[in-house]
Amino acid sequence: MAHSLCIVVPCYNEEESLPPYCEAMEKIAAENDGASWNFVFVDDGSADGTLEFLQQLPERNPHYHYVSLSRNFGKEAAMLAGLEYALELGDDLFALMDVDLQDPPEVLAQMLQRMDASTCDVVAGYRATREGEPPIRSWFAHRFSRLMNKMSGLEVRDGARDFRVMRRYVVETIVAMPERTRFSKGIFSWVGFDTEWIGYENVEREHGETHWSFWQLTRYAIDGIVDFSSLPLEAISLAGLFVCFLALLFLIFIVVRALIFGDPVAGWPSLVCIITLLAGMQLFGMGVLGLYLSKVYTE
Ligand code: UDP
Ligand code: MG
Repeated sequence: MAHSLCIVVPCYNEEESLPPYCEAMEKIAAENDGASWNFVFVDDGSADGTLEFLQQLPERNPHYHYVSLSRNFGKEAAMLAGLEYALELGDDLFALMDVDLQDPPEVLAQMLQRMDASTCDVVAGYRATREGEPPIRSWFAHRFSRLMNKMSGLEVRDGARDFRVMRRYVVETIVAMPERTRFSKGIFSWVGFDTEWIGYENVEREHGETHWSFWQLTRYAIDGIVDFSSLPLEAISLAGLFVCFLALLFLIFIVVRALIFGDPVAGWPSLVCIITLLAGMQLFGMGVLGLYLSKVYTE
């Protein structure tokens, strides 16, 4: 069955990965009746020859399109720009793919078959193995998805990638989400829709290097939590209440003790209690303030 498919591919400094990617995709397209697949490449402010390569693509094949961002905005922004552009092209299926062939083109073909065979809205890929990845990175990624799921109540599958095929209305919903610090894995899960998963082996990057340092991944993880959970704020409020409670208990204890036994070190214990009590109230107040802010954000 012919698919009206548009594939969105974010690219940042990928001059080495682009030619093998195009070659692999042309092969898969030929095998899968994909002569009319559209491609939207997003140049995310690359500093190498990526943009020059993309600029000559439409001549080679009119189904190749590109968007060029004015600077490096990060993969999340690149995907959003690409999806917005892709919606204009009028296809009914949309795919997101990395250009480094870590999202295997054969799996895309499987996803399309699954789309045909079932009525699901999204077919998404996840890495069933993390072979070849530094163990410490895997460990943290694994912890993170557990934590994220617990804290946000969303279901983000461990090993989930952005690699997926979506129907048009799903993409329209995702693009309508206005946040600027985007955490797509959370957004994909938040918008709901019927999602089927296809697992595949981890593939290592062939050309170039990953753009994510450990520090950037950590910040991205924090973005994810902050975007989808107000649990830290609730924890702070509770901690504040708890401190207040302790300080009050001690205050009562000190007053009673002073009444019964007198007060050998005048002023000191009560001062400490009052300071602790105020600190607890401030902490609680900040937490509550934060909760209101998070409500504003969520609305
Ligand atoms: N990417 C991007 N902007 C960035 C960083 C990455 O568009 O600032 C693209 C990159 O070109 C690739 C995809 O996002 O197509 C995934 O990047 P990478 O392979 O570095 O991430 P990893 O696979 O290690 O998670
Ligand atoms: Mg990669």
